[in-house]
Amino acid sequence: MRAQFAAVLAVLLCIALPSRAQVDPDRPFDAFAPLDLPAPTEARLGSGAPGPAYWQQRVDYIINATLDAETKRLSATLEATYHNHSPHALTFLWIQLEQNLFRTDSIGTRSRTGGVMRAMEEEFNGGYDIPYIRTGNQDLEFQIYDTLCRVELPAPILPGETFELELSFAFDMPPYLRRMGAEDVSQGRIFEYAQWFPHVCNYDDVHGWNTLPYAGSGEFYTNFGNYEVNITVPRTYLVAGSGLLQNPEEVLTQTQRDRLEEAKQSRETVMIRSADEVEDASTRPTGDGPLTWRFKGDNIRTFAWAASDSFIWDACGVEIEDLDGSTRTVLCQSLYPVEAEEWKPTAEQGGSTQYVAHSVEFYSDFLYPYPYPIMTNVNGPEGGMEYPMIIFCGGRTGRGPLGVTDHEVGHTWFPMVVNTDERRHAWMDEGFNTFIGMHSLANFRGTDLDPGRSRRQTMELARGRSQPIAVFPDRNLPGLLGRLQYRKTAMGLHLLREVVLGPERFDYAFREYVRRWAFKSPQPADFFRTMEDAAGADLAWFFRQWYLEDTVLDHAIEVVFDEPEEVPADAEEGESPSVPTVTITLKSLGEMVMPAEVIVQFDDGEVEIRNYPVEAWATTRERSFTVELDGRSLRRVVVDRDDVLPDINPENNRWSADQ
Ligand SMILES: [Zn+2]
Repeated sequence: MRAQFAAVLAVLLCIALPSRAQVDPDRPFDAFAPLDLPAPTEARLGSGAPGPAYWQQRVDYIINATLDAETKRLSATLEATYHNHSPHALTFLWIQLEQNLFRTDSIGTRSRTGGVMRAMEEEFNGGYDIPYIRTGNQDLEFQIYDTLCRVELPAPILPGETFELELSFAFDMPPYLRRMGAEDVSQGRIFEYAQWFPHVCNYDDVHGWNTLPYAGSGEFYTNFGNYEVNITVPRTYLVAGSGLLQNPEEVLTQTQRDRLEEAKQSRETVMIRSADEVEDASTRPTGDGPLTWRFKGDNIRTFAWAASDSFIWDACGVEIEDLDGSTRTVLCQSLYPVEAEEWKPTAEQGGSTQYVAHSVEFYSDFLYPYPYPIMTNVNGPEGGMEYPMIIFCGGRTGRGPLGVTDHEVGHTWFPMVVNTDERRHAWMDEGFNTFIGMHSLANFRGTDLDPGRSRRQTMELARGRSQPIAVFPDRNLPGLLGRLQYRKTAMGLHLLREVVLGPERFDYAFREYVRRWAFKSPQPADFFRTMEDAAGADLAWFFRQWYLEDTVLDHAIEVVFDEPEEVPADAEEGESPSVPTVTITLKSLGEMVMPAEVIVQFDDGEVEIRNYPVEAWATTRERSFTVELDGRSLRRVVVDRDDVLPDINPENNRWSADQ
């Protein structure tokens, strides 16, 4: 059975690969057909901008949570205020129960293979206990299906109405990682909580209720809202979350509050709680029993937090200029255990807080002002994950912390501000963020833009197993998420900027996309249309071949010498021999089309350059030109001399007299 399947697969692959590599000779110009996008509406305009009828739901939360640090159990009550801004009456609510991923019978556990998921199956049955869901004093009926819960309503929620929901929940921290976890370190225990509370699904104009389950890869797509989150922990613990601390006088010492004020005014890192103070009881408020840390986060798409008795804490302030020209200070801070060597501030202005400060400043300038008052980097068990105003980065030494910190801070813009659907369109946050990360890291290091890794992985995809970038992340072939939705997406934007549009034209359009969709939820069509609208370019060919389909590029050079005819003996006086010429042909053999630059070099050092815009391929797949040799001989002809394009077959990109 297995061998038979493998044989069938091999046959399928043999058929599939050439068709991906070679353009269909009967349909060479399909590349330029219009994209098959949803029809524009008054909510989502043909320009790609949100229209006068655009609406989105809003959910505000008040959550009171208590952590039992010994048993690693979290218990909480939650009040959600649902604002129905849609023009539709809603007869039920869908709620995401993301912790149910950790049940042994979850879709994620049963449908995936290897590592974490196998551990889930064997060791731990997690998920929520939900004693009640109610409104006022009325219990509501609900049905749970894996990570989803449908709540029956006493009456439809009409357009413009609000609805209040109360819910109680508890769960045990899983003993393995999936965006959150607990870790014992030398001076205590670190907890990271993310995707931890039941939240109302996003109801939108495109899909209605967005009810894709949490299966492990796809991250989240949520509503904006205001959050008040009160977290009760042992007195020895420090807590950070997706918001501003509301009661520093209750949970911090006077010294720490003074140092925080100093940090806000300082671009250099200020220590709030040093390594020496971690185990010093006087660095916690006097008294007995647990403490409640109160946070408020406005206009955020979820809330995450971390707590530990082992945290060193440092901070600095950066000044951000808003679109109206006014300025404000953003507090950048880091919490990490003593093991996190690379996080500590150095004389050379290294360390986590300086990395955070750089990223907040750079992206604010490059894209859109950082909109929140604080950004916290936490070192704990999670390797790298982003939430509003807080990120989790796991690396402790070497070069890891800089790159991961920059990437996770970059997620503020995609998808915390531009609220895309991560569970469907991972490329719109991971890939866009990988692209802007190239710019931020080059700026930080003072080096040229380096698409190296994105380029390498794009080539691996072109030559091997691949899928369209637009595939949902939970439907990626094993191992392809990083290559496709991160790196190939980034490489596409890089080429669109550097080769197709040019930096000024691209940057204008890309910023316009961010400004149009900040604090709103664009779909892929809104991105494609905005880029075309603001760049003033037909980019259907690019978006189709790069994002919607899986195509490859193969430019090829062909050189033909045209020998002069002998002058016949009976030639009339004055008839001269024809001049020797060479005909150079550039072919585009793959399905993908791209602009091309052909460089012709002669032995006398002269160079001739031909630039073909992508439109050169609209009616032909071959472009020829003739060059008079004029006593010179041809040395070299090359297309894409610097290997900028992801050409699947670079061997046919050059002709040389020496070969
Ligand atoms: Zn990411």
